[in-house]
Amino acid sequence: MRTPLVIGNWKMNGTLAEARPLASGIRDGLKRPGRVEVVVCPPFTALPAVGEILAGSPIALGAQNSHHEASGAHTGEIAPPMLVELGCRFVLCGHSERRHELGETDEQINRKVAAAIRHGLTPVLCMGETGEERRQGLTFTTVEGQLRAGLAGLDGGSLAKCVLAYEPVWAIGTGVNATPAQAAEVHGYLRGLVSEVGSKEIAQGVRILYGGSVKADNADVLLAEQEIDGALVGGASLNAPGFIAIVRKAARGAAARGDS
Ligand code: PEP
Repeated sequence: MRTPLVIGNWKMNGTLAEARPLASGIRDGLKRPGRVEVVVCPPFTALPAVGEILAGSPIALGAQNSHHEASGAHTGEIAPPMLVELGCRFVLCGHSERRHELGETDEQINRKVAAAIRHGLTPVLCMGETGEERRQGLTFTTVEGQLRAGLAGLDGGSLAKCVLAYEPVWAIGTGVNATPAQAAEVHGYLRGLVSEVGSKEIAQGVRILYGGSVKADNADVLLAEQEIDGALVGGASLNAPGFIAIVRKAARGAAARGDS
C-alpha cells in the first residue's frame, strides 16, 4: 500500500529569522509522525539552515524548483546537484505559480522531472486546471496534457520514482478546496493515465497528492479518500501546529484505511 506523504511548500516565505523557528517547531512536534512521510520545501536561501535543523529527524528536505542542467550559464538558477549537496530529497516540478507567473512550459517541466531523477531527487509533478478550464469542462483534458507531457520519455523505473500532485489552480491559496469527491475523481483519472503510460503496477504504487487550501480542518475528509495519498500544503504549512495537525490526520487516515 502507499505510504501517505505530506509536503509543506513554504513558497517565497521565510527569512532565516522566520524559517528557523518554523522548522524547529515542525521537527519538535513530529518526532514520531507515524505512518506518513513528511517533507518541507523552504525557499532556497533557507535550505541549509532548515536542513541543519531537520538533520537526524524523520522530516525530509525538498526544494521548490530546480534547473534541468547540472551546471552552466543559467544566471539565477539552481541545479539538482546543488540541492542534493544540501540534503534535498524532493523537488517540486511545475507548480502552477511557476507555470502561470513565469510561463514554465510542459516541455521545461518534463526536462526538470527527468533531471531530478537522474540526480537522485524525487520529482513532485504538479498539475491542475484553472477555474475557467473547469467551467468549460476541460479539467481532464488539461491534467491529461500536463501528465503526458510532464512524464514523456520516462521509462518504467523512472515513472515509479515520481510523485504526482493534483493542484487545481482555483483552489490554491483561495481558501476554497476541491471537495474530496472532485479530487478523488481527478486522482483516479491520473492513476488510469499512469497505467497507460507505464503499467498497472506502477500506477498502483505512485502517490498522488492533493493540493489546494488544505488545512487542519479539511484534511481528514480529503485524506480519507482512497485515491488521495497525501497533501501538498502551502499556506497552512507556515504554521507549525497547523501543519503538524495535517500530518497527524494523514497518519490517522492511513491507519483507518489499513495502509502501511
Ligand atoms: C501550494 O502551494 O501548493 C498550495 C496548495 O497552496 P495552498 O495550500 O496555500 O492552497
